[in-house]
Amino acid sequence: MSAQSVTILGATGSIGQSTIDVIKRHPDRFTVHALSANRRMAELAQIACDTRASCVVVPDDAAATQFKKAWSNVAPMPDVRVGPQALAQTAAENQTDIVMAAIVGIAGLASIFAAAKAGKKILLANKESLVAAGSLLMTTVAEHGATLLPIDSEHNAIFQCLPSCSETNNLVSRAGVQKLILTASGGPFRTLDLESLASVTPEQACAHPNWEMGRKISVDSATMLNKGLEVIEAHWLFNVSADQIDVLIHPQSIVHSMVQYTDGSVLAQLGNPDMRTPIAHALGFPTRIDAGVDMLDLTRQGRLEFEAVQPQRYPCLELAFDALRAGQGACIALNASNEVAVEAFLQGKIGYLDIARIVSQTLDWQARSHQDDIACLDDVLANDAAARTFATHCSQTIGTITS
Ligand code: NAD
Ligand code: MG
Repeated sequence: MSAQSVTILGATGSIGQSTIDVIKRHPDRFTVHALSANRRMAELAQIACDTRASCVVVPDDAAATQFKKAWSNVAPMPDVRVGPQALAQTAAENQTDIVMAAIVGIAGLASIFAAAKAGKKILLANKESLVAAGSLLMTTVAEHGATLLPIDSEHNAIFQCLPSCSETNNLVSRAGVQKLILTASGGPFRTLDLESLASVTPEQACAHPNWEMGRKISVDSATMLNKGLEVIEAHWLFNVSADQIDVLIHPQSIVHSMVQYTDGSVLAQLGNPDMRTPIAHALGFPTRIDAGVDMLDLTRQGRLEFEAVQPQRYPCLELAFDALRAGQGACIALNASNEVAVEAFLQGKIGYLDIARIVSQTLDWQARSHQDDIACLDDVLANDAAARTFATHCSQTIGTITS
């Protein structure tokens, strides 16, 4: 067996780091071809040195200079490439077998499409790409013989609980699947009294009880807009309607999701909350490989609890269901406005409850403007840009009122 070469887009992030940890456990199976990062060039240099990457992709010339300055060792420096086009080219080139798509947000979109067009095995952590461009991406993957494996723990769990891991078309009618049940931890504010939500800080929102993640997805977990993005992600990955997806709160994050069948069976995937499990599953698929994760000990774990979602605590979840039912334009607006609102919240410009307000206002605006003819990636990006402009305006208006 010859080693497969992996390109990690978003190598300095939480998923990127976990991916490198798994890869380093299997030097006979995997080598690193390329790494990308947007900031933290010293860290990127360290990772590139550790993994002996052949090339790195950085956002601009200033970052390239920082990277070269940080390269203080005797090993030959990797090829340093600059800009979004280089990112897409690197994701598509022959030297890459597997692409880990772990850039956060819409910024990851073009490189994922490039990898799909080149027929790569894509490990998809970037859920925003399926939310904004699900139909186009699934078509591109199918047309070019690419493979899309879910990294999001819920979707990876569902993938493992489905009868045929390689074929998801017409799953519901063919395989007797009745529902997909996505579990959600409920985030750090699950039991906080509702009045206090208005004054929670970014630090509190980023302190997730079970998972260590990047700041954007941590806030999304608190609002449960993350679960909303995952509902849309599940719709595209598994070809199921909004009515066939349920969300269930499970505070311990041990049951990662479930599949309910027409005969009453429910299959679940369990494990400790550690993203190295889904990453190892997808990297090795269909072979199981060591992930470095502690084995689940249910006697120590004790209780597994489940509860219904309280809609008044998590209005963003319902907004995501609304967007999925409304269509692709609404899903783009949902994702774009959320990215704008979360960034403004993290910068202290708006309050926590304003995130749902801005997303809701942007969805209303999108419904009025009827921007729903989306045929190509440029259409997605144009709709995304328009929604961002609107959401930024909402955010600035709120920011002016509150300051
Ligand atoms: P993170 O913020 O920790 O890392 C993001 C990475 O993307 C970094 O390497 C950063 O340099 C890079 N990046 C950021 N902006 C960029 C831009 N404009 N252009 C190019 N690169 C850019 O994020 P994360 O938590 O690792 O999440 C990455 C993706 O995986 C997200 O889409 C998230 O929703 C998804 N995901 C994460 C987890 C998790 O446990 N962290 C779980 C499931 C899904
Ligand atoms: Mg998830």
